[in-house]
Amino acid sequence: MRAVDLIRKKRDGGELSEAELAKFVNEATTLREWETYQLSAMLMAIYFQGMTPAETATFTRLMTDSGKRLDLSDLPGPKVDKHSTGGVGDKTSLILAPLAAACGVIVPMMSGRGLGHTGGTLDKLEAIPGFRVNLSEAEFRVALKNVGIGMIGQTADVAPADKTLYSLRDVSASVESLPLITASILSKKIAEGITGLVLDVKCGRGAFMKTREKATELARSLVSVAHASGLVCEALLTNMDAPLGRAVGNANEVVECIETLKGRGPDDIEELSVRLAARMVHLGGCAVSDYEAEKKVLHALSSGAGLEKFRAMVAQQGGDPRVVDDTALLPTAPHTARVAAEHSGFVEAMDAESVGVAAMMLGAGRQRAEDAVDHGVGIFLKAKPGEHVAAGDAVFEVHYRSDSRMPAVLELLSRSYTLRDTASRPEPLVLETLA
Ligand code: URA
Repeated sequence: MRAVDLIRKKRDGGELSEAELAKFVNEATTLREWETYQLSAMLMAIYFQGMTPAETATFTRLMTDSGKRLDLSDLPGPKVDKHSTGGVGDKTSLILAPLAAACGVIVPMMSGRGLGHTGGTLDKLEAIPGFRVNLSEAEFRVALKNVGIGMIGQTADVAPADKTLYSLRDVSASVESLPLITASILSKKIAEGITGLVLDVKCGRGAFMKTREKATELARSLVSVAHASGLVCEALLTNMDAPLGRAVGNANEVVECIETLKGRGPDDIEELSVRLAARMVHLGGCAVSDYEAEKKVLHALSSGAGLEKFRAMVAQQGGDPRVVDDTALLPTAPHTARVAAEHSGFVEAMDAESVGVAAMMLGAGRQRAEDAVDHGVGIFLKAKPGEHVAAGDAVFEVHYRSDSRMPAVLELLSRSYTLRDTASRPEPLVLETLA
């Protein structure tokens, strides 16, 4: 099978057979015969011509099988994960995993690092002194058995075809393709050995998908391919116009997670974490109805069982569990600055992407994959959309280490929100559920 023939077939709108897709995925894994420019040309052909649902499902399976698929069948109980398409201040994984585990769900979670304006779960976890995200497979299994949660990074043998293809898409303007995104996300999730998956598909200013239509399309594609792959799966379409919670960074987000697990977190973070955890509990068969699932999760929150799971997870992965009682053990930045309101009013809108970029410029995130992260710096939202500020009140508090980028950070933050005279109705957080 020659590369040029398969590229031409897709370029002209043809449907690739399983054998043809297998050849493409095999070449992405081994780089034996095809040149990288031929892989890129195929990606661009897929970008323009798309794939049929059956083609996307086959492509996803082949991408999964390009690497190792964990078999967790020896662990009794449902294995359910959550995947978010990425946002700003989105720290729900650190809250919902302990809550779901406290209700009997096993949560094998392989996460990514932050890139651009969006944060990453691994960076937040690594803000906890000693916390190891690079567990061996044996250690991951022990964590799942002992605590019910394992939170790690992707190992080199998970979906290696995606590693090559994703890096080519990144430099060849072919990231924004529905079948490519679907196969990329799901191949890595299926490889975790899960039985169920809850998707948090974000839409809005700070999301990968800016419009509701695009986010719905992605959610439908993900859910249908997940079903075709034998997973129970649901997607929640959620709002990402403004940052979630009040903390954007790494250590400060961990503090907010601990506060939420103590019942003192911001309303939006608690609501979304509970909703997603309840879906995991229901999909995992640990509750017979939505109502029962939510009741169980709320009990795990109010009883402190979720907090204890979090403590156990931190200890199991080498982190200092004392952070749960003493968050001063987490890294902080030495300097503080504020962005004050120029006049009084109600915060109308706040652009999550600008706040995420400002956090990245401080060092809380990465411009390029190889950049280092400063876990102590971050931004606090002193006012959120719908809240009132008087002239001179802080809208943002910035915790920083170096002065060099502060003028640009403060300028960006001061342009990231608008004020109006009357309070506007807050947008709903969960827009829709797709099953
Ligand atoms: N995240 C992924 O893992 N893959 C994509 O293609 C897009 C977002």
